[in-house]
Amino acid sequence: MAADRNGLVIVGGGLASARAIKAYREAGGEARITLISRDTMLPYHRPPLSKRYLRGETTAEDALVESEAFYRDNDVDVQLETTVEALVVAERRLRLDGGTERAFGQLLIATGASPRTLDVPGSTLEGIFALRRLDDSTRIRAAAEKARHAVVVGAGFIGMEVAASLSQMGLEVTLVHRGEGLFEILRARPLTVFLSELYGRKGVQLLLGDEVAAFGGRSRIDAVETKRDRTAQAELAVVGVGVEPGTAWLEGSGLRLDDGIVVNERFETGVEGIWAAGDVARFYDPLFEKHRRIEHWSNANYAGAEAGKLMAGGEGGFDIVSTFFTEVFGITIKLFGDVDEFDEVVFRGAIDGSAIGFYLRGGRLVACLVLDQDEETENRLKELLKARATVRDPERLGSESVGLDELFSA
Ligand code: NAP
Repeated sequence: MAADRNGLVIVGGGLASARAIKAYREAGGEARITLISRDTMLPYHRPPLSKRYLRGETTAEDALVESEAFYRDNDVDVQLETTVEALVVAERRLRLDGGTERAFGQLLIATGASPRTLDVPGSTLEGIFALRRLDDSTRIRAAAEKARHAVVVGAGFIGMEVAASLSQMGLEVTLVHRGEGLFEILRARPLTVFLSELYGRKGVQLLLGDEVAAFGGRSRIDAVETKRDRTAQAELAVVGVGVEPGTAWLEGSGLRLDDGIVVNERFETGVEGIWAAGDVARFYDPLFEKHRRIEHWSNANYAGAEAGKLMAGGEGGFDIVSTFFTEVFGITIKLFGDVDEFDEVVFRGAIDGSAIGFYLRGGRLVACLVLDQDEETENRLKELLKARATVRDPERLGSESVGLDELFSA
């Protein structure tokens, strides 16, 4: 596809954007590329920010998706610390902060998501952080070096990973979560029970079924008070209560917004030459026959590359099984597929060691939770999901002696 002289403009400076640039050039895309990012840094990987980078085991440079030379060699005009304020579809231009305008031939929107905040007394005290950007992680690490007690709010990905990391760094951690179980997002009761026991054993104090009522302190946080009248000492707080897709600047633009930018399986918005990928995009997933918005590394990694290739005129469209992974206290948990709707989840193996959770909907395998499996098994599970395999004999799902190909017909 020939982009016009205004070239390809990419808004948002995360993983999806870096992958899109690489794939676009590899597919023969020749337009001038402008990358506009609000961040102070070139695109980086976020998974280390709540894990190894936070714990001081890796550097900021290790997290970069591509080095500075990559953008130079691929003729990318990188504009950091720049905010796009509006999109004028009819005139194919963007309005940037400071009133500048930027025309585009093609546009990729990859503006990710922003952390929600807690609206409680004391929430603006020093020492209370959200974790999204690399510099957030740097600041949390610095604060952790001076703190003895930390409170972490939320038991989703940020809450679980950060609570584990801070505990591994030697802090006394209190985890406040409004639900009754940890990692309820994975919707697997045996895992939730195992994790509660594990976090307890590691010394993390769990305040479940409770919410933050207020953060205490004069200018800096020194405690947290909960709605059920519990108090914990804390010189540091990390709030992980979810994110909102970065679409505020697109209100009224004419793009279809519905908890994200709605795109098809080719990441097209429906407006010629305008695409969206990554956390901000609600794409059509043909495997589960519905639109999905996925806030994980592997989605940005895949969708960014696909969008880049398609924008350059290549062939493609969404055709993988979505996956994500997390690591807490040295345990890696992977999830393949979709856990939005299922009838039952059946585990085989030992949840505190090596196990698989099979999520079934009407006999169809719709997701797998994977703990310590070899690559061959993981690949076979993804193939079965992709083939919309159905279970032959549900009674035998829990038995490790039965092979996967015996269990499912694909
Ligand atoms: P998340 O995984 O969606 O979890 C949000 C947590 O906050 C849930 O426990 C939720 O509880 C709770 N919550 C939501 N609103 C709340 C409120 N008003 N008050 C108290 N608790 C509330 O989001 P996150 O942990 O903040 O992570 C942010 C983003 O980073 C997500 O998109 C996540 O996928 C991504 N991330 C991914 C990884 C990974 O893939 N390994 C790692 C880190 C971050 P309920 O369950 O009750 O709603």
